Amino acid sequence: MVAVGVVGLGQMGGPIAEHLVAEHSVTAFDLDRSAVERLEAHGATPADTATDAAAGADVVFLSLPTPDIVEAVVGEAAEAFDSGSVLVDLSTSTPSTTERVAALLDDRDVDVLGAPVSGGPSGARAGSLSVMVGGDEAVYEACLPLFESFAADVLHVGERPGHGHAVKLLNNYLSFAGFLATSEAVVLGRAAGLDGETLVDAFSAGSGRNSATEEKFPNYVLTGEYDMGFPLELMEKDIRLFAEFAEAHDASALLGGVVRNLVGYARVRQGGEADMTRAYEFVEQQMMRR
Ligand code: NAD
Repeated sequence: MVAVGVVGLGQMGGPIAEHLVAEHSVTAFDLDRSAVERLEAHGATPADTATDAAAGADVVFLSLPTPDIVEAVVGEAAEAFDSGSVLVDLSTSTPSTTERVAALLDDRDVDVLGAPVSGGPSGARAGSLSVMVGGDEAVYEACLPLFESFAADVLHVGERPGHGHAVKLLNNYLSFAGFLATSEAVVLGRAAGLDGETLVDAFSAGSGRNSATEEKFPNYVLTGEYDMGFPLELMEKDIRLFAEFAEAHDASALLGGVVRNLVGYARVRQGGEADMTRAYEFVEQQMMRR
């Protein structure tokens, strides 16, 4: 049994912590007291601060909203980490933040894994998330059983802690750029009198296939349900962090700049809480001047 600390018990961190508490000794903290109490009912020990959750833990998991909050929480709790312990950041953060956090904790002989997740709240509840892990391979191997308690796919993507967050930002950029391109193709095809389902079937059978043609359009757009469960405000955050990542490498994100503008407009137009698949409606409005 591993002594685990968890900080951040929201839509992702809450269910992840429930899987961990089934097999390990978990101490948990969230600014939202009711989230801590929910986990306490599953057998976790409540903590009053992030520092208390980190103290005495072998492995500390973070699942926090933004890179700034991750850095602030680690800065505050750094002194409490035991020498030889591991910090795992599951949040969607930037590679540069993860590297700064790793440098800070390196002084205390604490290893850091940047391990963002994919699969949403439903994947977290089902224990079927995908995790992209950056950091030392031996530390990754040691933590693998913990990841496997809440994830179906765990991938070691690089030796630097920031590599996991780099892969996550690149992946989410690709996914949303593919969604926008698919939306444009479907709107234009429909304007030319073609059927939406036929279009998406043809793209999926051809070289235009991507996760929008294979999953998002058949399940959430063409059905009119728009209930994938990933809000536009989170997609905007991911694309903003992708753009910051490009800037940090002095790289001009060519298509990325356009995608960043479009996700911002879509959020304003559809509302931040709207499902990200409603970006299709935004594209249609813009293209057809509706
Ligand atoms: P959330 O807003 O539901 O949860 C975040 C939690 O952190 C909240 O309970 C909040 O009270 C807590 N918190 C905020 N500041 C804190 C602090 N200083 N100390 C302690 N607790 C604090 O967010 P979420 O959807 O669970 O997302 C968590 C992370 O996972 C984010 O980085 C997000 O981008 C990423 N992510 C989310 C999804 C998704 O579909 N929701 C999917 C993949 C990745």
